[in-house]
Amino acid sequence: MGIRFESTVRQARILSPLNNFEPVTQTIDHREDPLTHRRVLVLKERMEYVKRFIETDDNFLSELVDSTASTCPFCPNSVLTKSPKFTPELVPEGRIQVGEAVCFPSLFAHEDFNAIVVPTRSHALQLNQMQPSMFVDAFKASLRYFELVRSNSPEVKFATIIMNFLPPAGSTIAHSHLQALASDIPFQSIEHLLEASKAYWDLNGASYWVDLVETEKRLGERYLGKTRNVDWLTPFAPTGLNEVQAIVKGRSSLNQLSGDDLEGLAEGLVRVLRYYHDAWVRSFNAVIYSGPLGQILDHFDINLRIVSRYGYKPRFVSDVWALQYLLGEQEVYGSPEETASKLRDYFHPG
Ligand SMILES: [Zn+2]
Repeated sequence: MGIRFESTVRQARILSPLNNFEPVTQTIDHREDPLTHRRVLVLKERMEYVKRFIETDDNFLSELVDSTASTCPFCPNSVLTKSPKFTPELVPEGRIQVGEAVCFPSLFAHEDFNAIVVPTRSHALQLNQMQPSMFVDAFKASLRYFELVRSNSPEVKFATIIMNFLPPAGSTIAHSHLQALASDIPFQSIEHLLEASKAYWDLNGASYWVDLVETEKRLGERYLGKTRNVDWLTPFAPTGLNEVQAIVKGRSSLNQLSGDDLEGLAEGLVRVLRYYHDAWVRSFNAVIYSGPLGQILDHFDINLRIVSRYGYKPRFVSDVWALQYLLGEQEVYGSPEETASKLRDYFHPG
């Protein structure tokens, strides 16, 4: 069945000094996520104003990357001597290696089980230089980690893979890395997503995720394309700037993903990152939302979300302020439809 996208449009009016104090009307688009009912403010006109904060000062960034190279704990000359090791009962070899990717525990755990995955030996990698193989190896190392965790602790069924790139996204180390997190206690956003997906299934007798992809394909204005078994779109009510969402058809948990699914996720991710680079974005967050490991759920499909963050530059401004941090109101600039129109070429080259 088709999904309904609800939006309430209001207008703010001011006498603008930018327009000789003539009346100016700005659109405040209150959108609601069709599944979770989480609301977001879409402010189309503001993108022009915030562009200067999104753009990174590339010289400032080069200084960070160059100055941290000699002491980087993730570079090849240090990663096998300085990074922590897993305990022998979990990983007898101490670390997990898949291709170029090296996986080891986080020095300070953020979760009951927290691994870092360094996907490449290269310290200075720009978004348009990231390759699908690097993500595939990192995903495989994360999945191997979850498998080993569960063979010791079968009660651990909630798992996610995240990526924070550069300081504006919360990363303390410039060398690209992912994190694999797991616990028997669910991650809040995943718990809510699973509950909402189940409620939709019970009410409609259908999967929200199947209906979402069908509806977005039919409407077309936010649908981007497909990489293998993975559909890509810009969500109607995004949580962040330039947000893109991927849905892996018919796979509810990370341990169900095939090699081909991982390739599909990695290929799409690389396309989004190329667009980000061309749009002067340098910093991003990404997450994979998974259902419980070891369970097959008809009402949930794994999905990935990626958002851009503000630029790395002197006089840096955070894109998270009291509105998001303390009031729980998300806002995005530009619209998901505009983002999709620019991104579509990256999914249909030529
Ligand atoms: Zn490095």
